[in-house]
Amino acid sequence: MSWQTRAACRDTDPELFFLASEDYTTGAAARALIAAGRVCAGCPVRRECLAYAVESGQAYGIWAGRSPAELRAIRRARAAGTPDPEVDRDAMCPACSLLFALPAVDGSVCWLCEEKGLAP
Ligand code: SF4
Ligand SMILES: [Zn+2]
Repeated sequence: MSWQTRAACRDTDPELFFLASEDYTTGAAARALIAAGRVCAGCPVRRECLAYAVESGQAYGIWAGRSPAELRAIRRARAAGTPDPEVDRDAMCPACSLLFALPAVDGSVCWLCEEKGLAP
């Protein structure tokens, strides 16, 4: 994974991102989620990291500032047809966020928005 060489977490303590806990809502894990989120917020490969974690089914650790439960929620939503604004950004209509059937061409909008005359 070439994006990993540009990861902002490369030089941080791995234990911050991979705790034994599965519950990130309280205690040390919740604090780690906040601290990791700060690192991820400034990471240049956040979207690549999130897409990898979602698509490869990572079940442990913090990826792109998301807890395992948040990653599961993204997977469930995508499986139900709701694209994720970050993972699916390049495949979404910039005007209405509808998922394109084909990858969007720069600056183009979906056919619905085109009919309505909406610009991105
Ligand atoms: S988004 Fe966060 S977990 Fe992912 S590579 Fe960047 S710093 Fe690491
Ligand atoms: Zn649209």
